[in-house]
Amino acid sequence: TGTIPTTMRASVLLKQGVIEMQERPVPTPGDGEVLVRVASVGVCGSDVHYYKHGRIGDMVVTAPIVLGHEVSGTVVGVGRGVSEDRVGDRVAIDPQVPCRQCRQCKTGRSNLCPFMEFYATPPFDGTFCDYVTAPADQAYTVPDSLSDESAALLEPLSVGLWAAHKADVGPGDQVLIAGAGPIGAMCAQAVRARGATDVVVTDFVDSRRERITSFGATRALHPVQDADEIAAIRADAFIDCSGATPAVLSGIASTRGGGTVVLVGLGAEEMPIPVQLIATREINLTGVFRYIDTWPRGIALTSAGTVHLDDMVTARYPLEQVEDALNADSDPLSMKAVVVVNPA
Ligand code: NAD
Ligand code: ZN
Repeated sequence: TGTIPTTMRASVLLKQGVIEMQERPVPTPGDGEVLVRVASVGVCGSDVHYYKHGRIGDMVVTAPIVLGHEVSGTVVGVGRGVSEDRVGDRVAIDPQVPCRQCRQCKTGRSNLCPFMEFYATPPFDGTFCDYVTAPADQAYTVPDSLSDESAALLEPLSVGLWAAHKADVGPGDQVLIAGAGPIGAMCAQAVRARGATDVVVTDFVDSRRERITSFGATRALHPVQDADEIAAIRADAFIDCSGATPAVLSGIASTRGGGTVVLVGLGAEEMPIPVQLIATREINLTGVFRYIDTWPRGIALTSAGTVHLDDMVTARYPLEQVEDALNADSDPLSMKAVVVVNPA
């Protein structure tokens, strides 16, 4: 790994639509932290949204910020209280830093901690840079068989794993998923890993429907052309990864009595709710916000070949071209763009 320099490259979002390469000091790992030399960073829809709109809801970019939060790398330094043995570990980072003190944290809902610090969520800098710090227990060592890219994509996989958990998917279940983007694909793989045997994914985009059958879907349907087939479904669980009102309404209608509806997509802020359907079918309706402790499972499933992450990467960019990566990600033909910060 060599010696650690004092400054590093960082791709900084100055304000909405303006990205600049800067030289910044390399951060110092605090107590209980590791310093990680960044390898790969996946581009997420939220990075694209901050770049294009300067905000996501009430999270507003008011000062320059480094985007990126789907990250892998190598431990190159440790803070107080962390074993020097960690140096050299290839790691994938769980980017959530909850306070660990509040009621949510203490009752097993750390993803809902009101004091959460998260890469690339204002005012916290993200990972489109050479070095980042992270709590040592959230930098998970990955086996050599996992590529840097797969290790970075454990973050979006985690959203899928948590959604499958919230959907309580079990062996032999039928699951309906709306949206065949990266998150829909992660959910499809996650529910298959839990034993779902019929995984129906809907999307308008032909290329996404075609591709989704190699990422866990057993059937890919068009929301309008295949409306009758979708309406006939009574799934054990419906997971929305589209954020689209018509998809949520049709998904709820295609959920069996006693089934579960999980809302992952963050699109329309409000939607009408089919109260009578939900009441008379006793449908469990819940949301998903990120994940809790999903990296160990994600590493196990990816290493075992149950989940495929490498095949999801459709484009690669060096750190100097973060802007191109952010623009490419909104292309429906792309599945996952990755910024290769420091090649292996
Ligand atoms: P994406 O935009 O790449 O994918 C959404 C897909 O939904 C698109 O392919 C689109 O064609 C499809 N779609 C639109 N209308 C549809 C309809 N009526 N029926 C079926 N499909 C339809 O986004 P993504 O990166 O895959 O993320 C999916 C959603 O998940 C986003 O809204 C994102 O904000 C959200 N998300 C939530 C969390 C969380 O913690 N809750 C985490 C990550 C992402
Ligand atoms: Zn907390």
